[in-house]
Amino acid sequence: MATHKLLLLPGDGIGPEVMREVEKLVRWFNARGLGFETETDLVGGAAYDAHKVSISEDAMKRAQAADAVLFGAVGGAKWDNVPYAVRPEAGLLRLRKDLGLFANLRPAICYPALADSSSLKREVVEGLDIMIVRELTGGVYFGEPKELVTLEDGSQRAVDTQLYTTGEIERITRVAFDLAKKRRNKVSSAEKSNVMKTGVLWRQVVSKIHKAEFADVQLEHVLADNCAMQLVRNPKQFDVIVTDNLFGDILSDIAAMLTGSLGMLPSASLGAVDPVTGSRKALYEPVHGSAPDIAGKGLANPLAMIGSFGMALRYSFGLLDEADLLDKATANVLASGTRTKDIAPPGTNAVGTQELGDAIVKEL
Ligand code: ATP
Ligand code: MG
Repeated sequence: MATHKLLLLPGDGIGPEVMREVEKLVRWFNARGLGFETETDLVGGAAYDAHKVSISEDAMKRAQAADAVLFGAVGGAKWDNVPYAVRPEAGLLRLRKDLGLFANLRPAICYPALADSSSLKREVVEGLDIMIVRELTGGVYFGEPKELVTLEDGSQRAVDTQLYTTGEIERITRVAFDLAKKRRNKVSSAEKSNVMKTGVLWRQVVSKIHKAEFADVQLEHVLADNCAMQLVRNPKQFDVIVTDNLFGDILSDIAAMLTGSLGMLPSASLGAVDPVTGSRKALYEPVHGSAPDIAGKGLANPLAMIGSFGMALRYSFGLLDEADLLDKATANVLASGTRTKDIAPPGTNAVGTQELGDAIVKEL
C-alpha cells in the first residue's frame, strides 16, 4: 500500500482547532485502507514561543520530505513586537520560497445551501464553481529594482518593477490548462496587454502554449479590469482564470466574496513537477487567517481547512473519488442546515467547530 506523507503545521489561533477536524478525516480515510502518515510541527508564533524562529530547520526538512503540507494559520497580537525576520508570517513565506510554490490555486465554489450569504444575488452565484490560478513567485511583488528613495529636494520616489520571463509564464499557463481539462475545459487569461509589456508577453506565451499543447481547451484573453467587472456581473461564465501575482491577489479576493464566508475558502500552492519522480511539492491552507477574535472558543468554521485537505487528496494524491466524496459530504451537511456561526442565518442555531467536523465524518 502506498503511503501518503502529510506534514501538519497547525500554527496559531484557530489553526490548531480547524486542523483537529482534518485529523479526524485522516483517521476515517486510514480506517478505510488509505495510508496517510502524518507528522505535526510548529510554525508561526507557536514556533517562536518554542524556538525563537518562525519555522525550525527541522520542520523545513520535514516539509521538503512530505508529499504535502497542510498549513493552518499564523499570527496574532501576542507576536506583534517580535523581530521582523522571525514574525509568524515569515514561516509561510519561507515555506513558499524553499518549496518553490509558484502556482496558487483558489477555488470559489458557491454551495446552493449558502447562496444567500453571497455579496451578490442568489441567481448570480448559485452553483458557481471557478478556479483562480495565480502566479505566486514573480511579478511586481518581487521584481527589481524595488525601492523607496528620498531625492535631493526632500521629495521621495518609489519604484516597483513588474517583471516576468517566458519560463515563469509557461509553467503557470500549463497548470491552468491541465486543470481546465479536468473541469469545464475553458481558460480565461487575464492581463493588461493594452498598457503593459508584461501583459503583451503574457498573452503571447499563453497563446503559444495553447496552440502547441492544449488546442482542444477553449481559451479567451481578457483584460484584468474587465475580468474584475465580469466576476461581479456574471461570474458563472468563468471556469479557470489564470493571471499574474498582483491581479491574482485582487481577483481572488473578489471571487472569495462571491461565495459567502472566509471560513469556507480553501487554497493550494503547487511547485514544479519533478521530471524524475513525477511528483510536486505542495502546500494546502485555508484562505482565512488565525482569527484571534474567535480563537479558543470552538466557533471556527473548519470547512476551509477541510476543503484544503480535499484539494490535497485531488492534486497531491490523485484520490479523485475520495475528494469528490468529501465535497459531497460537505454539500450534504450544509444542505441539512448544520452550520457554524459565520454561515448560519441570523436567529438560527449554530454548531461549533467539532460538531461540524463530526457531521462531515458521519455523512462520509
Ligand atoms: P490574516 O492577516 O492572517 O489574513 P485577518 O485578520 O486578515 O488575518 P482572519 O484572521 O481570517 O483575517 O479573520 C477575519 C475575520 O473573519 C475575523 O472576524 C474572523 O473571526 C473571521 N474568520 C476567519 N476565519 C474564520 C473561520 N474559519 N470561521 C469563522 N470565522 C472566521
Ligand atoms: Mg488577511
